[in-house]
Amino acid sequence: MATIKPIEGRSVHQIQSGQVIVDLCSVAKELVENSVDAGATSIEVRFKNHGLDAIEVQDNGAGIAAADFDTLALKHYTSKLSTYSDLTSLSTFGFRGEALSSLCALSKFHVVTARADDGPKGTKLEFEQSGKLKGTSVVAAKQGTIVVVEQLFYNLPVRRKELEKTVKREYGKVLQLLNAYACISTGVKFSVSNQLPKGKKTVAFATQSNQHTRDNLANVYGAKTLMALIPLDLTFEMDSSAKPAAAMQSARNWSTQDDGSKTVKIAGHISRPVVGEGRQTPDRQMFFVNSRPCALPQVAKAFNEVYKSYNITQSPFIFADLKLDTNAYDVNVSPDKRTILLHDQTALLESLKNALFELFQGHDQSVPQAQLA
Ligand code: ADP
Ligand code: MG
Repeated sequence: MATIKPIEGRSVHQIQSGQVIVDLCSVAKELVENSVDAGATSIEVRFKNHGLDAIEVQDNGAGIAAADFDTLALKHYTSKLSTYSDLTSLSTFGFRGEALSSLCALSKFHVVTARADDGPKGTKLEFEQSGKLKGTSVVAAKQGTIVVVEQLFYNLPVRRKELEKTVKREYGKVLQLLNAYACISTGVKFSVSNQLPKGKKTVAFATQSNQHTRDNLANVYGAKTLMALIPLDLTFEMDSSAKPAAAMQSARNWSTQDDGSKTVKIAGHISRPVVGEGRQTPDRQMFFVNSRPCALPQVAKAFNEVYKSYNITQSPFIFADLKLDTNAYDVNVSPDKRTILLHDQTALLESLKNALFELFQGHDQSVPQAQLA
């Protein structure tokens, strides 16, 4: 008798969902990204009991059309991508159609949504664990969408226990992640709050509908933090023949005609390269690729190395948005899309270090304390 058999569909769904939604951060990230993708100019994230009881994300975006209710939470159903080749021209955060389907499998989940022409009425949508629409009802609602995730991991006892144990630390990580989304999203009013079971509601942070990232940073981190930052406004050619940063004078003499060269722009804000203007811990460093928050450990290392040669005792505050050609990277590496594969990373890092030295030279009279090898 054959022993190799397919895993039952429901179990496959649960196993795969557990890879998309791994913690509180993934829930908040996926829902906020959906709100931004829906064109929202106001996004409110409400945690109940640090997210242990519920996470709700309310937006004033386009809402969901009745024709899409049935497929909304089905796996690999998305309004954002239909063929693989669309990936390179993608301007939305989402594209896999996995988040809502995974949340159905791992939480008590429902959605309330209303379109502009729905008047003051909206629809509450409830789903089965598989993502199949279970029922709808008419409710009072404003234009936009509210997604409610209750009792995350209630059906995965080990993860639920772990979440109960670590929830406060997790909540801290979520705030850091949401700070990045709030600061990069110009023209979007963000607010994040937490409601304890018997306590009052506390607002963790809020931004106004600012047109500039620097005003978002001021809202989130305070005007004083902002004062210690200088604009990060770099444009450089990514030169595959770049020499190590020790030859930093050469930064001005690069051959831009080099066949392998590509223009990179980096926009943002960074601490002044002066002792006393940095931070004790490197906890405020945010990186983006074309406005998508992501983890760029090698890029972070390059920034920190150059900064350390001016201020060895502290770490910089970094808010850096890399503007890259969409062919120069691949976001489809990890389920959470935070890991990004940068083609030609070595060339980019060398050119980046040179450009940073140049920037810092303009802001500090002193010669770097240690020249990088
Ligand atoms: P993806 O974002 O990869 O498309 P999701 O599972 O996150 O997959 O969402 C599925 C679809 O549901 C989206 O493509 C979008 O059409 C719709 N959707 C999800 N959240 C919202 C929202 N807040 N407002 C409007 N539509 C939404
Ligand atoms: Mg999505």
